Amino acid sequence: MCVAALIALIAAVGGAAAQPGRRAISIIVSGGTVITENGARQVLAPGSVAIDGTDIVDVGTPDAMAAKYQARESVDARGQVVLPGLINTHTHAPMVMYRGLADDLALMDWLQQYIFPAEAKTVSPEMVRIGTRLAALEMIESGTTTFVDMYYFEEEIARAAFGAGLRGVLGQTIIQFPVADAKTPADGLARAERFIREFNDNGLIVPAVAPHALYTNDLATLTASAELGRKYGVPVLIHFAETEDEVRTAREK
Ligand SMILES: [Zn+2]
Repeated sequence: MCVAALIALIAAVGGAAAQPGRRAISIIVSGGTVITENGARQVLAPGSVAIDGTDIVDVGTPDAMAAKYQARESVDARGQVVLPGLINTHTHAPMVMYRGLADDLALMDWLQQYIFPAEAKTVSPEMVRIGTRLAALEMIESGTTTFVDMYYFEEEIARAAFGAGLRGVLGQTIIQFPVADAKTPADGLARAERFIREFNDNGLIVPAVAPHALYTNDLATLTASAELGRKYGVPVLIHFAETEDEVRTAREK
């Protein structure tokens, strides 16, 4: 729901309640430059944001908001910017563990000579859990509140993200060769289906199917991945057209 709609909703609720005095809420963030991203792209400098439970309930000038709300917790945001959370639209969170392993290489050299061999030796539920918790800390610290991910043991990533209070569009990887969590693409597809069933009703997690790429899956696996996505109405995530080589290979196939 957009902020403008939220404000309209709150105005209606406030009118219906018609109680004297200020409304009790959980948190007020006051005094910062508030970038609303509402329909009018309104920027309040200074502004305040009222939060109750999991909802942003109102945005306005600090004086107006102080007159309307009694917050249990106040955050002084003077000198800071308050804006909607950033969204990381593509990552593999546990790969923070490989930071510095190999950089500035062509994609296929990086993958085939360094990353795939390292993953074959080190990917485990524990590695994925620890890596995601580190990545979650870094994302939160830099203002990221939602991330799109594709990796192995994706259920560990989902649990760590949920535990950290992050939103995630998270895809169980499907790949043609044997990997840590699946010996065959059929194993990967079965895993993906279990993952979707487990997290389909989670308030923060959107489960997805993630065939790795055109160059790491055959046509049957790609087709089955798409069918699985359609069966449950979930997103399908895939690496696509990352390099000129990949585009050329895809066209040849
Ligand atoms: Zn990627």
